[in-house]
Amino acid sequence: MNDKTLEQTILFTQMVAHKQGWLLNPDKDFYDTLVEGLMKNYNRYGYFFCPCRDAEARYELDKPAICPCIWSKPDIAEFGHCYCALYLSREFVAGGKTPRAIPDRRFAQA
Ligand code: SF4
Repeated sequence: MNDKTLEQTILFTQMVAHKQGWLLNPDKDFYDTLVEGLMKNYNRYGYFFCPCRDAEARYELDKPAICPCIWSKPDIAEFGHCYCALYLSREFVAGGKTPRAIPDRRFAQA
């Protein structure tokens, strides 16, 4: 498995945001921390596991939380940003809003 570089991980987030019509978190320090977490997770597990959740280190179990996670769309639709606040809706940013803690849908499905 080839490790991902920071540049490759940044590109990955840019591609996801572009494809979905989302924006990346404009807080550079915060964004950098998340990207670094994503890169470390890729290089540890072999996939871009969410940088603000705990991995099980088993692909079948972690799959829903591989970035962009399956909850990103409903979270962005409801709250304006994903759980990590890596991706934000254009409306949310245009409104000058700041991301806040939101519930994690990962364990809310039982
Ligand atoms: S909450 Fe979802 S979309 Fe946001 S960084 Fe984590 S995995 Fe990616």
